[in-house]
This record gives sequence, C-alpha cells and structure tokens, in this order.
Amino acid sequence: MKERGLLIVLSGPSGVGKGTVRQAIFSQQDTKFEYSISVTTRNPREGEVDGVDYFFKSRDEFERMIENNKLLLEWAEYVGNYYGTPVDYVEQTLQEGKDVFLEIEVQGALQVRNAFPEGLFIFLAPPSLSELKNRIVTRGTETDDLIENRMNAAKAEIEMMDAYDYVVENDDIQTACDKINAIVLAEHLKRERVAPRYKKMLEVE
Ligand code: 5GP
Repeated sequence: MKERGLLIVLSGPSGVGKGTVRQAIFSQQDTKFEYSISVTTRNPREGEVDGVDYFFKSRDEFERMIENNKLLLEWAEYVGNYYGTPVDYVEQTLQEGKDVFLEIEVQGALQVRNAFPEGLFIFLAPPSLSELKNRIVTRGTETDDLIENRMNAAKAEIEMMDAYDYVVENDDIQTACDKINAIVLAEHLKRERVAPRYKKMLEVE
C-alpha cells in the first residue's frame, strides 16, 4: 500500500500574503504539492479562471455542497462570501500518496485541525503589525473603517497562532517559500513516517 501524502495547510491573517506565497510555491518547476482548488461564492476577479483559481458557485450551489457533505473538511464565510475545500479531492489525492496543499483563512484552518489533526499547519505571519496595515492599505480597496476592521480581525487571527505547528514570517517571498519547503521535507523525514518502511525491509530479510 502506498504511504499517504501530507495535508499541508498554509494559513494566516488577512493581508499577510498567503496567496502570493502560494502562487510563488506553485510557479516553481519542482513543486511536488497538489493544490486543492477551493469552492467560492465570490465573483471571479479579472483573469481568474473557473476550475483553475477557484470553482465559482452560487450560494445555492455552495449550500447544496454543504448538505451533501462535499465540504466536510472545512468551509467558512469570509467577508460576505463562502469558501470551502472539496473533501473528496483531498482524500483521494492523499490516498494516491501525494501531498495536498491548502491555502485558507484561519477559521477554516482551525476546522481542518479538528477534523484532521495529523495535517501540517503552517502559520504565515507578518513581519510586524505596521507592515500588515501597510499591505492592507496598499491593496487600496478598503475604506478607513474597513481597514480598522481588518486590522482588528488580523490581531484576533494572530492570537490563533497557537493552533499551528510552524510559524513562517513573510518578510521575503522566496525566503518564506524556502522555509515552507524545508518544513515539508523535515515532516517527511520524521521517524514515525520513515520507520515502517525499514520495519518492512527487516521483515523481508
Ligand atoms: P480571496 O477572495 O482573496 O481569493 O480569498 C480570501 C480568503 O479566503 C483568503 O484568506 C484565502 O486564503 C481564503 N480561502 C481561499 N480558499 C479557501 C477555502 O477553501 N476555505 C477557507 N476557509 N478559506 C479559503
């Protein structure tokens, strides 16, 4: 039987750059992770493609997916839209021995932690609160009130750091990617994962 893949969960506060780091990881040729494409009810942004960036659904369709247990691993409402992870894809891909990569917000990551504690939970942290505010402001889409809301939400999200296994500061995108790849490599080399293979070898000898 093939060894199951790892479920890698990259999460962190709004505005920290999760999407940018994820895109950088997947733009590298030797990436061995399978990206789990999320389902969302938000409208596609310019250039986004259905089935590539997200599966874009209506609220009705999304709610039907919840009822039909298609989003059992996690789903969350975030800034007025639903986001969720298709559980069948994740389960099947892990069974094929491949590592699955989720890039999701904090509420969803906490649900995955409950449903799937053997996952690898990586918290992407901002270099500082002022830098985080800077990033939210330079996105340019928020009013002052909303920026304040986002900052308060981000502070509450940073307090959730305790639920994660590793913390990676996003000061430089390439450095953050290198650290994430190193964490995954180390996880694969954990004695608990490697030892059964050797035990089997000894049985055959
Ligand atoms: P955006 O609308 O900017 O693409 O994503 C908004 C937020 O939703 C980001 O923090 C992103 O990480 C998160 N997100 C994307 N897909 C999922 C998902 O399947 N589940 C959850 N809980 N969050 C998601």
